[in-house]
Amino acid sequence: MESFFPAVIGNEKLRRRLATEIREGRFPHAYILAGKDGSGKMTFAMQIAAALACKNPDVLPCGECDSCKKILGGFSPDVLVIRKEDDKKEFSVNLIREIKSGLYIAPNELEKRVYIIEHAELMNASAQNAFLKMLEEPPHYAVFLLLCSNTASLLDTIKSRAPVLYTEVLPQSDVRAYLLEHSPRAREMAATDPSRLTSVLLSAGGSIGNAMFLCEDAEKYDAEKNLVYALLDALTAPAAAGIGMLCDALPTASDALCELLDMLKRAFRDIAVLQKAPTCAPLFFERADRAETYTMKITVARAIALVEAVDRLLADLRLNMDTRLAAVSLIGDMRTIMMN
Ligand SMILES: [Zn+2]
Repeated sequence: MESFFPAVIGNEKLRRRLATEIREGRFPHAYILAGKDGSGKMTFAMQIAAALACKNPDVLPCGECDSCKKILGGFSPDVLVIRKEDDKKEFSVNLIREIKSGLYIAPNELEKRVYIIEHAELMNASAQNAFLKMLEEPPHYAVFLLLCSNTASLLDTIKSRAPVLYTEVLPQSDVRAYLLEHSPRAREMAATDPSRLTSVLLSAGGSIGNAMFLCEDAEKYDAEKNLVYALLDALTAPAAAGIGMLCDALPTASDALCELLDMLKRAFRDIAVLQKAPTCAPLFFERADRAETYTMKITVARAIALVEAVDRLLADLRLNMDTRLAAVSLIGDMRTIMMN
């Protein structure tokens, strides 16, 4: 039986389309692969790179031939992954210049040279303009795969030369099946604490990367969840007493704070939704009845205002707002909403 991109979960239509393009020799010079973080874009890109070199007609890529092994093992000099430097917030023009310096030298071993650019949405304006020049006249062997979580910041001129392919959000059943196959911790949860596994799946939002992370990092996840409960308890105590004391408990690293805020947002969303639709599946609470203490004390209007306040803060944090300032402002906003 023929199969395409066996390591990619879901995305049936997209897999079929790309495999056909590769087989018929009409795979374009560039694609933007867009999807949530953790949705498997890198796996997909590596599979595409292998498929472009693989000669096995039945399984594309086979994973067994020499070029597949080399590419999927990360050893091929003709498949290059370009990442922004760790200490930089943006993807600078220097990285594009580096690509350009080797671009016109023919591939070493393969017919193609594949450039996989991670977090392409972080390219600043000059990086994008430099990249566009390469896209306009690429050598015949060059293939660019731009991975990004959000295409809004990419120039239209780039998007017109590199069509956007959207990877799909996976159904919970697919993510669950993947976890049970690949994560011993998930199998343990399924056996001893199935509601915990359900809550991991809910929080993962269709992303295998998130789900794996949540399973393997279950302790950290517990700590975050407990902190959200502590915030909810303080918020619903008379006069929101004690909420100020939680300010110091909030994470100081921006990523960690954003993660916590996402979780808090899901809790407020549940509190609003469960009052209107009690049978709706919660996103934060393990079970609907676990939310009852809070739905009795936080009205729908307040819960919506709280979701909006958290959203505003998330937007500010993405624009590099100081995390201490964000924590103070969160506590202040929440208190104000509960008191009004
Ligand atoms: Zn192969």
